[in-house]
Amino acid sequence: MAKLKPCPVCGQNVSLEKLGIHVKKVHPRERVEVKLEKEERTEVEEAAKARRRSAQASS
Ligand SMILES: [Zn+2]
Repeated sequence: MAKLKPCPVCGQNVSLEKLGIHVKKVHPRERVEVKLEKEERTEVEEAAKARRRSAQASS
C-alpha cells in the first residue's frame, strides 16, 4: 500500500508517488519543491518499476 504524505500546500494526504503530480496540477502557481526522504524516493521508484513490469507483462 502506498504511503501517504501531506501536501505542503493544502495538507491533503496524497500518495508519495502522486505528490509531485498533485502539486503541479492542483497548485500550479505554488513554487513548492516536494522533498522526499531517501527511503520515500526509493518507494516511489519501486512503485514505478513495478508498474513498468506489470505493463510489459500484460502486453
Ligand atoms: Zn495540495
